[in-house]
Parts: sequence; structure tokens; C-alpha cells
Amino acid sequence: MLRDQRVKAVLVAAGASHRGRVRRVNEDSYLFRIDEAEEAGDFVVCDGMGGAAGGEIASRIAAETMLASVSNTPLTVAQMQKAVDAANEGVHSQAENDLALAGMGTTLVMLAVRGTQAWVANVGDSRCYRLRAGKLERLTQDHSLVDEQVRMGRLTPEQAAVSPFRNVITRAVGTGDHVTADIQEIALSAGDFYLLASDGLTRELDDDRIAQIISTGDPPEQIVEGLIQAANQAGGHDNITCLVVHLA
Ligand code: CA
Repeated sequence: MLRDQRVKAVLVAAGASHRGRVRRVNEDSYLFRIDEAEEAGDFVVCDGMGGAAGGEIASRIAAETMLASVSNTPLTVAQMQKAVDAANEGVHSQAENDLALAGMGTTLVMLAVRGTQAWVANVGDSRCYRLRAGKLERLTQDHSLVDEQVRMGRLTPEQAAVSPFRNVITRAVGTGDHVTADIQEIALSAGDFYLLASDGLTRELDDDRIAQIISTGDPPEQIVEGLIQAANQAGGHDNITCLVVHLA
């Protein structure tokens, strides 16, 4: 008797955000949804900036707009950029309508899964990592002054980590009329872990430490708890947000 031997990859995810130990407010936002029937999932982390409540508002608008913009539509690179355009417009128009929010903006990193394919979009210095077969790989490049200088060979990663300019990002969502995201299409593999994180996590923990915590193979809820706890133990200088997606 023939049977369907195809094993469905099950998406399991968890996210968490923590104010950290220094900042008084949390300007990060994260959102996700999983549609098991469609074997689809959308995951986004945003790290806002701006005076008054600007940072919080910018990151929330961008995260909500991204999720709304990718639902019920076949995904392509162009469609992902359209979603980023909508997020940019949402944040930018709100900033123009309210003087207290002028200049607000946000980073954005998104993973959108459709079957065995996924799209990763990023703007700014929030990152996407993949752990596959025990090896951690950073999939995104930061749009930041120091990361660009590292890529050009002008700074070492060690110099970048302590540079007074390490907070300067070169692209943001909502600060201008238009922003171009880096967008990549990737093939998923059973067993993969994906991590979306704000810089409050990735500045406190190096790749080895992140890999070690994800490699425990614990359920995503425990992994995100472990990552946030470790980032706080390392100083918790900024808001810490992470979202872990596992193809179980
Ligand atoms: Ca941050």
C-alpha cells in the first residue's frame, strides 16, 4: 500500500522583548503569526528610535504594517519591498502629522515563510541568523556606519564593537520618503532555527554564545528566555528582543 511519506515541516516559534537593565522604556516591537494549514509564517522584529514615544510607535506601526502587507499574497522580492514601502509610509506619515513624533524611525527584520521557501528583509541593524547543522550563520548585513566600514576593511569587528559611532545606522524605516530593504529568498531545511534580534541582544552576545544557547535544542520559548537572560547578564544596556523560529 502506498502512503504519503512527505513529512510536513512544523513551524514552532516564540518571541520575547525585555527593557534591559538600563533603558527606562522599551522601543522594540515584535510580532508573528503561524498558519499551520498553509505551512506559512510571518515573523518581524523592529527597533524604534525617536523622541517622546516615537520609537515605540514607529516600531509598532512598522511591525503591524509588515504583517498586514504580506498576508494573502504570493511572496516575491518585489512584494516584500512593497510591504517595506507600506511600513515606511505608515511611520513617515505619522511622524509628519505629529510634531512630537518628528524624525521617528525604526529598523526592521522580517522572515516570511511559505512552504519550503522564505524571504528575509532587513533595514538597519536588527539581524537574522540561521542555525543549521550546528553552525550559526548571520544572513543579514547591518546598515550601520561601523558594519559598512568593517566590510570595506577599514575597521576590524573588534574596533567596530567599541566605536563611538556604533549606534549610527545608515538606513531606517520611516525617516525619509523611501527606503530600500535588503531582501533575499532562501530555501528552508528541516531542523533549521532562525533568530531575529534587535541590537540589544547581538551587542551583548557574540555568535558563539548565541549558537550555544540555540544549540541546546530546547523549545523556542526556552531559547528566547535563555537569550534574554544571557543578554541581561552581559549588561542589558539596551532593549533586548528576539524571535526564534524552528522548523521541527
Ligand atoms: Ca536597540
